[in-house]
Parts: sequence; structure tokens; C-alpha cells
Amino acid sequence: MIKAMKFGGTSVGSERALRSLVSVVRQDQAGKVLVVSAMSGVTNHLLALMREERPPSDAVFDELLWKHTSAVQPMMPEEALGDLETKLRVRIGGLRQALERYQEPSSRTNLQDTVSSWGERLSSLMVASVLRSNGVDAIAMTSEEAGIVALGTPGNGTADLEATSRNFRRTVLPLVKAGKVPVITGYYGCDADGRPITFGRGGSDYSGSVVGYALDADAIEIWTDVDGFMSADPRVVPGARNLREMDYGEAAELAYFGAKVLHPRTIEPARKKRILVRVKNTFDPQSPGTCIRENKGAGGKLLKSVAAKGDLAVVKVYSSEIVYNPSLVMHLLATVSENGSTAYAISTSLSTLAFAVPSSAARNVCERLRRYGDGEVEFVVPSEKANEVVRKLHDKFIGV
Ligand code: ADP
Ligand code: ASP
Ligand code: MG
Repeated sequence: MIKAMKFGGTSVGSERALRSLVSVVRQDQAGKVLVVSAMSGVTNHLLALMREERPPSDAVFDELLWKHTSAVQPMMPEEALGDLETKLRVRIGGLRQALERYQEPSSRTNLQDTVSSWGERLSSLMVASVLRSNGVDAIAMTSEEAGIVALGTPGNGTADLEATSRNFRRTVLPLVKAGKVPVITGYYGCDADGRPITFGRGGSDYSGSVVGYALDADAIEIWTDVDGFMSADPRVVPGARNLREMDYGEAAELAYFGAKVLHPRTIEPARKKRILVRVKNTFDPQSPGTCIRENKGAGGKLLKSVAAKGDLAVVKVYSSEIVYNPSLVMHLLATVSENGSTAYAISTSLSTLAFAVPSSAARNVCERLRRYGDGEVEFVVPSEKANEVVRKLHDKFIGV
């Protein structure tokens, strides 16, 4: 039995969380590979540093060192803590260099993903050290060392599952077979030139699933700060309930449309190999969590969970041609997708074609569409706040 266990930002973000992580990992007899996020707040901090005009002061780097040592200090003997501190100092030195190079306008685009992946590079060292001090034979690995291969554009990468699997047979699997527990950085992989490409915000869930795929794992566990996949975001609907069972399709659609508990693409690699995905609470490991698998009709309820994606606008094209000229629809869709804009949803009728696109792209999309014939084009931004709609739908169809 082999498992991929992904621990999120809050799950590695405090002494309390790390104590729980250690106890969960120790109790589990399966062969396992951990995938870790940055400690909560660290990725946001790194992104903020890149917006500053000057390189950060020493205090910023000292603070990072302190954050990654103070959380584990009560759980580690002095010598092991000293060893962790040395490793962290070297790695923080790498961040300092990357941020200095980032000052050069010509290297900015190249370095954005490198800098934003640094939180995971620090947390993986910390988690592996605290595990080692507590009897688990853990080894920190970066995505480069493990061989997670990424394709696509910076900030929005996708893993090359087959290339990653080939690498893992050489790098990660032999370690697991020897009883070791690799602790791999989530959130990014490397492209053919060895450059880090991140998988988008919240991308460590996707990394967890990619690692599960590459290991041919029996289960992928997503350890987070709530009891599982719920009937809505509990921060928006305090009475939201936990779902015990879900089908891959349900979880994937909800994640795609805004359920932040899973990165939108987490389910893809798992579903390809029919690997069970379990969402579990690091702060209450006894709680059953949610099992996501091939399970059509799981739970029997028509409506199980409500999610919302804010910041979308609806672009509408009115033209009498739509229903009579199918190739027009194809051209309009191609026009919407130019410049990488995503159409999140599409609907057609006799004379209207409507696309849900990110609000930031709506004006440009309309301008491009106006190039086509004499149809009318407009966009509307929903007036109701997404969270209010979620509460209303939850009250009406799911209840407390
Ligand atoms: P992690 O750092 O573990 O990846 P995230 O903050 O990314 O954690 O995701 C967990 C959060 O997702 C929860 O704290 C919760 O507020 C939010 N969330 C949104 N939708 C849901 C949902 N349907 N079920 C559970 N949690 C949800
Ligand atoms: N640390 C990254 C982020 O904050 C990835 C993750 O947490 O999943 O987006
Ligand atoms: Mg997350």
C-alpha cells in the first residue's frame, strides 16, 4: 500500500498543526510520500516582496528563518534544530539571490514562479526535519529532485504525468521501497529547461494528485483545515455539512467552479488511474472526511454542495445567424479564447451565444467579438454577490 499525503498551508503553519501532522504520519503504516504547501501566509508574502521596488531587508529573511524554526523547535532536539537552521539559511540565501536578480526588469517573467515557489522549498525542509526528529525516516525533496515535469505557461502549469512517472521510478519509488518518507515540495514542477512553473494558486492539491498518479498510489489524501468536502464553504455558510462520499465528476466540477478546498485540476490525475481521493482534517484526524471516487449517484441527493466563482462576467452575442451558421459559433469561441482567455461556461439559443469569462477580460473579449459582422455584443457583470447566492441556494436546497 502506497499513499500520497498532501498537507496544506494551515496544516504546516503552526506548532499545533505540525504536532498533528507528525502523529498522523507516525500512526500510518502504509508506504507514503508527503507533498507540502508553503506555511500559510508565506506565498502571499513572497508575491508581495516581488511588488516592492527594492530588494527586501535582512529582517525579512530573518523573519522567514524564525517562522520555520520556531514552529518546530519544541518538537526537536537542539542538534537537529541547528542542522535544520543551517539548511534553511542556505536555502533562504537562494531566495535572496533570486529576489536580487528579480530587480533586473529583463529577468522578471522568468523569475516570478521561481520566487513564488520558495515557500514550499522552505516548508519541505522543515517538515522532513521535524519528522526525522520524531522517528520517521523522512527526506526533503524539491520538485526538481523528484522530477515533477511541468508544461504550459508560468503561473498556470500542468504536469506531464507520464514524464513525471518515469522520473519517479528512478527518484522517489526506490526511496519508498527502502522505507523512507520523501517530503516533496507542492505547487510547482519544472519545464524542459529546468525552470520552475507553478500550477496556479492552491496548486499543491494538484501536486498531491500528480504524485499519487506517478507512484501508482492506492490513495491520495488531502489534509486540510476542515472536516472534508462540505455542502458549501463553511466560512460562507456556517451550517455547511460534511459530505462523506462524492463522485470524481461532482468534486471536479465544484472545484472548477470555486470550491477552494481542492485546486480545480486535482481530480484529473486521480480519476485517470481511479485512485481514491480522501479529504481529511489535520486538526481532527478521527473525523471521517470525504471519499472521492468513481461513485455516480453517491449519497442520492440531487444537490449536495454549492460553490461560487466570483469575478466572472457574461459576454453575450446577439445575432440571427447563430442557429443557421454553425461555423460562426466556432469562430466566436476561437475569438473568445485568443490571448488565453478561458470561457468557463457557454450557452447558445436561437439568436444568443453567451460566454462566462473572467471580468478582467470581458471588455477585450467584447472588442474582439465586434470584429464579426453586425451582431450586437455586450457584457454584464452579475449584480448579486457570489456569497449571497451561495447562502440562498444552500438554504433553499440543502438546508441546515
Ligand atoms: P489548504 O491550505 O489546506 O490547501 P485551503 O484554504 O486552500 O486549505 O482550502 C481549505 C478551505 O477551503 C477551507 O478552510 C474552506 O474555507 C474552503 N472551502 C471552500 N469551499 C469548500 C467546501 N465545499 N468544502 C470545504 N471547504 C471549503
Ligand atoms: N503555496 C501555494 C499557494 O499559496 C500553493 C498551495 O498552498 O497549494 O497558492
Ligand atoms: Mg489549498
